[in-house]
Amino acid sequence: MKRFNKSFTQQEPIPQRGVHRAVQVLQSGRLHRYNTEPNEQGETALFEAEYAQYQEARYCLAVTSGGQALQIALRAAGVCSGDRVLANAYTLAPVPGAIYAVGAAPVLVEIGDDWLTDMDDLREKARTTGARYLLLSHMRGHLADMESICALCRELGIVLIEDCAHTMGAQWRGEKSGNFGAVACFSTQTYKHLNSGEGGIITTNDAELAARAIVLSGSYMLYERHGAAPPVDAFEAIRLDTPNCSARLDNLRAAILRVQLLNLDRQIERWNLRYQIVENRLRNSSGIRIVERSLDESYVGSSIQFHVEGFPVDRIPDFIGNCQKRGVELKWFGADKPVAFTSRYDSWRYLGALPELPKTLKALSTTCDMRIPLTFSEEDCGTVADIIAEEAACQAQSASSA
Ligand SMILES: *Cc1c(COP(=O)(O)O)cnc(C)c1O
Repeated sequence: MKRFNKSFTQQEPIPQRGVHRAVQVLQSGRLHRYNTEPNEQGETALFEAEYAQYQEARYCLAVTSGGQALQIALRAAGVCSGDRVLANAYTLAPVPGAIYAVGAAPVLVEIGDDWLTDMDDLREKARTTGARYLLLSHMRGHLADMESICALCRELGIVLIEDCAHTMGAQWRGEKSGNFGAVACFSTQTYKHLNSGEGGIITTNDAELAARAIVLSGSYMLYERHGAAPPVDAFEAIRLDTPNCSARLDNLRAAILRVQLLNLDRQIERWNLRYQIVENRLRNSSGIRIVERSLDESYVGSSIQFHVEGFPVDRIPDFIGNCQKRGVELKWFGADKPVAFTSRYDSWRYLGALPELPKTLKALSTTCDMRIPLTFSEEDCGTVADIIAEEAACQAQSASSA
């Protein structure tokens, strides 16, 4: 029996040029983003300018984490204590956490079998709660029909905030994910598409929102030293009315991000090559169902999701366990207890009474998720997919003969 023995959490090393640049920053001693010489543009400001260009957004702000990016974006977009914020129920813990941190309350919206936001439930919940904000996570890289989302937001006067933690570099009909709402958030935490250990990015085309975000991030009155900030007069109206929440990125992390950004599109091609190998093998496996993606979506295959269906749900733990024994690490969103990153909405008890979301629970009950690190070769991806397919077929067979 084939076994696999590489780590599912091992990322690639930081490119040599990034290591070199990081050492130069360390030797300079000027790690704080505002600790610059006259006329010097620090690494953080340069990264902001370069990311704004990559994203095709006017303004860009680098912060300490994706979760901080969400909090700052919510505040900068106008969310106040007591407000309701619509959010798809299939997301990662930093999303409800950010809504909670700004004193607002999430209104969780159902997802469908395809892991996308259920448009009917979104409309219904927007109507019944009067919520004026939607924090949309493009969870695990799945992009909803963005025309429909934007049309609904326009119709109901909802401000859209995009969580692009899994869609950095992805597109919907040729437009980059993150350019559909009022503001977008990205993460550069180790498991995302750029790796600085921790880090986050905010982009927007709205000058006032950008100015508020920059002051919120802890700019003191040094906002002129930013790389992709609005003109100085955008700050005049807000600078004395906006708190400093200290969440700045530093030059060390910006230095390694700059080098990785140059190669991001190439990395996306490498991810997708690997993703397609796994997907094609699993598409033809008994017991497994692949959800076909919209042709309008250009995704980044840094992880894969599929439904296991050829056998009863109570056999899924055995299936996961048998894959694990052969070295293949799958996450199952149907588990009763949250494991590592696999949090489900019913594990966020601090939110108070949780809504009933039967569609979401049904979709997640058969959902498996697997990371596809770039340290896997194409051959590795074939091996991993073979193991999953064999174990699923084995469960399906013993279920049918039981
Ligand atoms: C990773 C992630 C974030 C941000 O996480 P940080 O760890 O704070 O950078 C936000 N949303 C989703 C869906 C994520 O996966």
